[in-house]
Amino acid sequence: MAWFLNHYLCYRCDTPWTDEWSCMCDDDCPHCGARHTSPYKSKDLTTVIEKDGDTFVVYPDSPRIRRTSLPNGAIGILPNG
Ligand SMILES: [Zn+2]
Repeated sequence: MAWFLNHYLCYRCDTPWTDEWSCMCDDDCPHCGARHTSPYKSKDLTTVIEKDGDTFVVYPDSPRIRRTSLPNGAIGILPNG
């Protein structure tokens, strides 16, 4: 799974903010609530470190994310929040 740090700038009140998602998706302004603001810039935080058999183990470059083992033995990542 990919992981992105998205940078937003509100079209209504000019408030800048960032948020992390698994895609480059729209977000709502935390200051005035303007809906569906698109990110003007996104940083890909996903880093592929190693290949484990047929699987790539991905360590995201973010302190808010932790690794987890899934029931089927695959490795995924989940937000800490
Ligand atoms: Zn706003």
